[in-house]
Order: sequence, then C-alpha cells, then structure tokens
Amino acid sequence: MSESFPEYACPYSKRLAAHSPRFALQVYDSTPISGNSTQHSALSTQHYSADPFGELSAISKCPGLKQRFPDRVLVMTTDRCFMYCRHCTRQGILGKTAVVDTPEKLAACVEYVKARPEVRDVLLSGGDILTLPDERVMEFVDAFASLDQIDIVRVCTRAPCTNPGRVTEKLAKTLGASKKVWVNTQFNCADEVTEEARRAAALLVDAGIPVSCQTVLLRGVNDSSEEMLKLFRALSAARIRPYYVFTCDPIAGIDRFRIPLEDAKRIERECAAAIGGLALPRFVSDLPGAASKIPIATL
Ligand code: SF4
Repeated sequence: MSESFPEYACPYSKRLAAHSPRFALQVYDSTPISGNSTQHSALSTQHYSADPFGELSAISKCPGLKQRFPDRVLVMTTDRCFMYCRHCTRQGILGKTAVVDTPEKLAACVEYVKARPEVRDVLLSGGDILTLPDERVMEFVDAFASLDQIDIVRVCTRAPCTNPGRVTEKLAKTLGASKKVWVNTQFNCADEVTEEARRAAALLVDAGIPVSCQTVLLRGVNDSSEEMLKLFRALSAARIRPYYVFTCDPIAGIDRFRIPLEDAKRIERECAAAIGGLALPRFVSDLPGAASKIPIATL
C-alpha cells in the first residue's frame, strides 16, 4: 500500500455510499460535512499524532504483534481493507507497520503469547483480516485458538458492513467450529445495516459466533441520539450486539469528524433514557497511556 492513506472503496461500499450520504462521509474526503469542526476536549490538539498509541514502536513487541494491555494482544494480519475509512485510527501507520505475512512471523507471535500465560484474548486485526483468503484466515485463527490459555480469538473485520458478501456460509461455519471466535465489527449508521449486512450477521450468529459492533461517533454520520438509536435498534434486530461507541481517537487529520465532548455525553444520556441495556453500548474514549477505555461520562 502507498504511504498515503488511499481513498479506495470496494464495489459494494461504493454502491452503499451512492445511496447513503452518511456512509459516503466515511469513504470520500471531499464529501462536505455541514457546520464547523470541533476539537474533542478530552485531549488537547497538541497531543494528536499519526500514531498516538505507539503502534509503530512502543507497543510493537515482535513483527506484527502489538500489546497495550496485559490480557490481550493485537496481531496485524494485513494492511488492506475493503474500504479505507476516513476516520481510521491506523491511517497514519497502515503500510508502514509490519504485518504477519509469513509462517515464521506467525510462529514468533504464537511464541510471544505462549511465553505470557496472562494473555487470554487475541485480536486478529489490521487492516481487515477478511481481505485474506479463508485458508489464511484460518491459519491465524487456528494458531491461537489451539492454545489452552486463549479464551477468545477476535476476528476484527468491517466486512459485514463494507463487503458483506465476503461472509459466506462456509467461512462462518469454519470460524464457528473453532468455538473461540468472536467477530467484532463496525457499523456507524443505520443505513449501513442493509439486507446484505443482516444476512452476513445471520450466517455468523447461526454458526455460533457472538457478533459485536464498535461504532465511532462521527460528526455528520451519527452525532445525534436519533441517529444512534436508529443504529442500535437496527443492529439489535440483526443480532449484532452494540458494544462500544468510541469518540474519535487522538489522531491527526480527522478534526472534521469530532464533536464536543459535552455533546457526546448528551447523546449517551438520551440513548440511555430511550433504550434497554442489551442494545445500549458503552460510550468511551481510548486515550494513550490509560489502563483501560475511559467512560466518557467520567471525562
Ligand atoms: S476497515 Fe478498520 S482498519 Fe480498515 S480503514 Fe476502516 S477502520 Fe481502518
């Protein structure tokens, strides 16, 4: 991938963007957002950077493996995606950081985990792991699911939203057979929960895989309780658990998507008053150096 963050979308994402201005904002830099951009007040702009979490250096433990928290590690399976989201937290490092693209690198990651029995959760991320062929996906899954110490192998993929046809019955059944796979995905507005997306989610859930959604709070996309509630209800109906809503990470270059923290808190309060707990995600910020995600109500 080139050093710049490409403006690429697969045919499905392009079609969705043509029908949904809210999704188009995530695909094209040139799509205008009404109103003024605002700084997220939990962190001053001088701390914004291309790599706020030190993924290129501090938390990179061996080629393609990153660890910020004691009980889990993140494995960079690829730097490719079905579309490159304009708000992506890794836009400053994709194409620059190592990915696990050889059996030797995968073996080194497995050895790193085996040497740390406190690691119980492996995030197979990137990039989007489902851009890889099924056989490669399962090499990653099996390498970690076969370790007794591992309870959860997270397949981190936006494919159910950005290219739902990639989720086939065969892939879902194979992932489900591991008994340790959870799928973490990202939907940001109700327009994205299409018939194809619902079908992809159904294949995964019917194969015994818990499917959760991490939404990013984005100006112009979902910055009202009305839009958020539409999304949470659509996800719940698709059997996708709304898990987190993240404020924008402190990365440089995405200020146009940020909303004031007080507005984010108000949206959370309004959602909490309107919907049951099973459909209500935690609204959090991910801040460099913090021991865990921070509930925005405490900021
Ligand atoms: S799919 Fe995920 S990794 Fe890829 S650009 Fe979007 S947010 Fe970033």
